[in-house]
Amino acid sequence: MKILILGGIKEAADLAARLVEESHDVTSSLAGRTKEPKPIVGDVRVGGFGGAEGLAEYLTAHLFDKLIDATHPFATQISANAKLAAETTGIEFEVITRPPWQKQEGDHWIDISTLEEARDVLEPNARVLLALGSQYIDVFQTRADIFFLVRMVDQPEQPLPLPNHELLLGKPSPDWHKEAETLKAHSITHVVCRNSGGSGAYAKIEAARALRIPVVMVQR
Ligand code: NAP
Repeated sequence: MKILILGGIKEAADLAARLVEESHDVTSSLAGRTKEPKPIVGDVRVGGFGGAEGLAEYLTAHLFDKLIDATHPFATQISANAKLAAETTGIEFEVITRPPWQKQEGDHWIDISTLEEARDVLEPNARVLLALGSQYIDVFQTRADIFFLVRMVDQPEQPLPLPNHELLLGKPSPDWHKEAETLKAHSITHVVCRNSGGSGAYAKIEAARALRIPVVMVQR
């Protein structure tokens, strides 16, 4: 089959490799947010399609047989577009969503549903690991009392709007001991993140558990 995978996360790249192995003709689509994405098996295209309509046109013009939405669980716009494009074109459609992390014994999660709630629930003068992409940071700028340790894969294009912060560039470590060292080195009192699921970013949750640090968890 000729398959278009909407990707951008590790599981989507793993899926592309599996489907190529099964002799499918696979193209992975990336939004282009990461400067140097890891190589992906099969063809790769980068950039938006121009909404659901653009995606539908792309699927038809390139004679795809199947569309797979394997995007990040918080990438809601592209998922809505994929659903609509699949309905319009009638193409075979599959959605692969990675399951959310489940609370374990020892976890102290403050479950919330928006970033605004995360901002408001943080205690005065907290020291926070903010594990969010640059497009989600603005909402925290009114909390001048808080120190934010902001972790991002790439250098943000604009200076971060947070009055009191330090930028930690790079991917999270998969080793919770290393994550715990980072939390301790910056005297972190809270972690703020979204319940993305998957293994790549889970070590900070394990580290917070070990250090008894509360996690302000934006649920899906
Ligand atoms: P989004 O808000 O759902 O999508 C915004 C727009 O970006 C879409 O309307 C589409 O533009 C374009 N786009 C998004 N994903 C695309 C893809 N895979 N291929 C081509 N165009 C895409 O998306 P987002 O949250 O910014 O995420 C962007 C990408 O990063 C996704 O591939 C996602 O899997 C990955 N990612 C996201 C997160 C996260 O926290 N959101 C974390 C890790 C990885 P057009 O309307 O012009 O087509």
